[in-house]
Amino acid sequence: MTAAAGSIAERAAAVRERIARACARAGRDPASVRLIAVSKTFGPEAVAEALAAGIREFGENRVQEALAKIPAVAELAAQRGLPAPTWHLVGHLQTNKARAAAGAFAILHGIDSTRLLQALDRAAAAPVRVLLEVNVAGEPTKFGFAPEDVAGAVALAQTLPHIEVAGLMTVAPRAEDPEAVRPVFRRLAELARELGLPELSMGMTEDFEVAIEEGATMVRIGRAIFGERA
Ligand SMILES: *Cc1c(COP(=O)(O)O)cnc(C)c1O
Repeated sequence: MTAAAGSIAERAAAVRERIARACARAGRDPASVRLIAVSKTFGPEAVAEALAAGIREFGENRVQEALAKIPAVAELAAQRGLPAPTWHLVGHLQTNKARAAAGAFAILHGIDSTRLLQALDRAAAAPVRVLLEVNVAGEPTKFGFAPEDVAGAVALAQTLPHIEVAGLMTVAPRAEDPEAVRPVFRRLAELARELGLPELSMGMTEDFEVAIEEGATMVRIGRAIFGERA
């Protein structure tokens, strides 16, 4: 499915409406699902437009790109009397960028190795909230812990004073029919429940409604809000 035509504000409203309908189907409170607008490849002006439309949380997948964008957006927001947004890192993090990422983002979604947990713990000045990425479907091309390794990573994190594991994150395989990835979301939700972790970051433009039905607390949506990436 491609993003709806129209302005960022119109598309954001349409996404919110779809989130609300998915919540209604699942008997969930829409306030229990946070919309993270993934602004990668889009400039500060597009983010400011989304801010003006009421979106408050944004996701970036590259530290370098985000470090340039975050202050530019802050400046536009201040000029226009809009609140400053909260930033999420939604992509893979390299160990050598751990310090910069810990300082720039409110939460890091793509933490995928014990080595990275240890590097972040050493680099961070204050506790960092993280989500452990899980490669639920075992795809060789994807980052993430194998499901059977997550409990060990959580146990390790409990020994690290600057790490707070808030939950789990996954990127589902690409599928024509979002129903095909429902078992992936269901498995991640089970795993989080077993480990007593509250946050579940799952669901993107193609599959967020199914993810919400399976318990997502954060959906990471790019194209349905900003349009197709160049
Ligand atoms: C790009 C990206 C998204 C958003 O994808 P869309 O298909 O544009 O909604 C979500 N999560 C991650 C990790 C991404 O890299």
